[in-house]
Amino acid sequence: MPGNESETKSVNFTMANATRRKIINFLANGGKNIEEFEEIAGKSIFDFHLKILQQANMIELEEGVVQLSEYGRNFLKGRKETSAEEITDLSQAKPVEIVEVRQLLPCIADPSKFRVIANIAPPLGRILKILEPLFPRGNYSDIKDSLITQKGEIITTIYGSGKVSMRMIKNEIEAKEVLEDIKDTINEAIKKGVVPPSKEKIRVELMEVYKCLPQTNCGRCSEQGCYTFAIKLMAGQVTLDKCTPLKEPKYAYNQELLQVLSEYI
Ligand code: SF4
Repeated sequence: MPGNESETKSVNFTMANATRRKIINFLANGGKNIEEFEEIAGKSIFDFHLKILQQANMIELEEGVVQLSEYGRNFLKGRKETSAEEITDLSQAKPVEIVEVRQLLPCIADPSKFRVIANIAPPLGRILKILEPLFPRGNYSDIKDSLITQKGEIITTIYGSGKVSMRMIKNEIEAKEVLEDIKDTINEAIKKGVVPPSKEKIRVELMEVYKCLPQTNCGRCSEQGCYTFAIKLMAGQVTLDKCTPLKEPKYAYNQELLQVLSEYI
């Protein structure tokens, strides 16, 4: 199984693609000749995916036969063992409601915006921690029993007690919209009865994102250049699809890598 952050990123990037997952699963029962992969992917696409799988150390290629590396076998084994147990049960939880939005105070960092205090009920208590994966930028703290989420510049902290605090809010309408979003996300998971397993904690660096961008500073994203775009991507203020040059075939690898990285921003 992946050990350090860069290995985890590499494996997550590799396995984020459906064709590569197919290839790995196809190899689960033993090595295959390259010709046998034609039904999974055409020759040129297969070569592209083969290169990525080799770079991630997931497979080995010898005399026209492709097989899982020891690393790849361990990855597949580890995934089978953990997939069932990592789904977290929510079947006993009750749907939540927003019961109060009680304070709008000016933000210290930007007095044109507000801090808002609200309450949701019933209190989430012990299930708060397992809700973390529902929020793309969620971060649970055991010490504070709080879950911090971020959307654009709005930072919301949900406490196990039901208290919710929000920063950088424009007005009460926006506060209610953010709260409704959070409520719907939680209630949808409660309705399903499960949440997905927690993702590994991975820190994405600004330069790492910047290096994957085309670095042409063409301005088609309406930003000053790629560096500004990378900063805004890290802050959740732009989305990857705004960089249209990334859709060109020559940037296919970069685009895939950025898609995986952006899940951890
Ligand atoms: S569109 Fe893409 S390549 Fe062009 S400046 Fe923006 S981030 Fe850079």
